[in-house]
Amino acid sequence: MKRRASLPSRILLVEDETGLVLTLTDLLRSEGFQVESAGDGEDALELASTGNFNLIILDVMLPRKDGFEVCRALRRRSIHTPIIMLTARGQVADKVTGLKVGADDYLAKPFESSELLARVEALLRRVSVPRENREETYRFGSVMVDFRRTAVERSAKPVDMSAREFELLTYFIEQQGNTVSRQELLRQVWGYDAATLTRTVDAHVWMLRQKLEEDPQNPRHFITIRGLGYKFIESPR
Ligand code: CA
Repeated sequence: MKRRASLPSRILLVEDETGLVLTLTDLLRSEGFQVESAGDGEDALELASTGNFNLIILDVMLPRKDGFEVCRALRRRSIHTPIIMLTARGQVADKVTGLKVGADDYLAKPFESSELLARVEALLRRVSVPRENREETYRFGSVMVDFRRTAVERSAKPVDMSAREFELLTYFIEQQGNTVSRQELLRQVWGYDAATLTRTVDAHVWMLRQKLEEDPQNPRHFITIRGLGYKFIESPR
């Protein structure tokens, strides 16, 4: 299968059986994914809230907080990272509960590794548009982004953007609907991890608002999520 040309997908694996964690981590890494793992529900919640993951594999039976609680808490925090829940075999109630609390898919244990990989790939395909297949232009509000020409127009007038601003805008669009922390933006857009420089991110987001929002004081697209970071929303409700 052709791997996405963009950054490798990051997967958070939440499971307390160490043997299974090792096996699945190896499996996913051999397929080109970046994998981090959490062994209980509290750690999972913290990692999932702060790290930038493209997908979460979440076991139901976990110490401290079960998978359903983790899933429900994430959705309440407006974290919409796709989640595959690992349920006990034959527990139809688990499946129903999982979907009710906001999981995207479920897989009953025990499962074949090929089955898990198929689900992961399918879910990632469903939620993300691969860079190479992406539309050449993208619109939100009165803004039009032309990825091929790396140009931006607002109300049909060109907007001057620095390369960094354009990368930041592109990342927001790729992560639309997801809360992204300043640290994550630094890592993904600037390529480094330095908590003291998060003001750099704030300054750039401020600039995007000045350039692209109708009313920069009351942004509708580049939203501050207090205590967490930012979120880009294409169509405000
Ligand atoms: Ca477990």
